[in-house]
Amino acid sequence: MSIPPIKASENDIPQARRQSVTAEGDKLPNSKLFTVERPREWPLSPIRGLALMSLVVGCALAVWQWNAISYQVRAQANGVKGVLTASRDRLKGSSANAEANSTGNSTGSESDDPPELLHHRRYAEAAIADLVPIDSNSEIKLRPAAAASINKMIAQANSEGVQLGVVSGFRSIADQNYLFFGVKAERGETSKTRAEVSAPPGYSEHHTGYAVDFIDESQPDTYTEESFEETAAYQWLMKNAAFYNFEMSFPQDPTSPLSYEPWHWRYVGDQKSLELFYKE
Ligand SMILES: [Zn+2]
Repeated sequence: MSIPPIKASENDIPQARRQSVTAEGDKLPNSKLFTVERPREWPLSPIRGLALMSLVVGCALAVWQWNAISYQVRAQANGVKGVLTASRDRLKGSSANAEANSTGNSTGSESDDPPELLHHRRYAEAAIADLVPIDSNSEIKLRPAAAASINKMIAQANSEGVQLGVVSGFRSIADQNYLFFGVKAERGETSKTRAEVSAPPGYSEHHTGYAVDFIDESQPDTYTEESFEETAAYQWLMKNAAFYNFEMSFPQDPTSPLSYEPWHWRYVGDQKSLELFYKE
């Protein structure tokens, strides 16, 4: 299909438009016509040349400067990223180590820590996976055998009208770190004084998942006080705890360097717990 060539002629412009173009052209002053033509012949004067050069140099400087700044920003960002990555890896490393310590080192024989410190025996931290919550408080965890025994004890005591409760079971080394050093500093105690009533971190029976602190819920003010021995809960424990394989860890003993703790008891109802607490 062939397209006929477009033949534009003056006749294609409407009469009115032709008239107006002519009229406008006629009206343009000579000066205006001259100004319109002038840029084509515009010579570069020394001042304008200098200005143009400054502009070019300025732009180049700006581009260079921008690159330098953005390089610095990128470098800083990479640096920060590097630091974050490094510290994240350190954290990952240390938590992996902590896990290895808590899971793999059940006897503590691989540790360089002394087997006894300030009259407290060293105990490995039980793995969280090896612990279960007790019935009366899901936040308190123990080894399954100890937890089963505690659940029976509390149920029996309660059925006899005694408000026996447990306020502390498994405790991590980090928790004990605060209980020993944090409280020691708060009270201005010496290490020896603090160790009479609290084990240094790594040396608490609570790390094993076999030890508990009891309370008489009708007399909460006797918690961790010697006056706990005056409560019905304590009397019940003295009469019944052995039937559930629990014994008092720090009984009244004038020859012992450790304080009497009538509230703190440990489970000794299986081979593992017995070895932990009695192995020489
Ligand atoms: Zn305790």
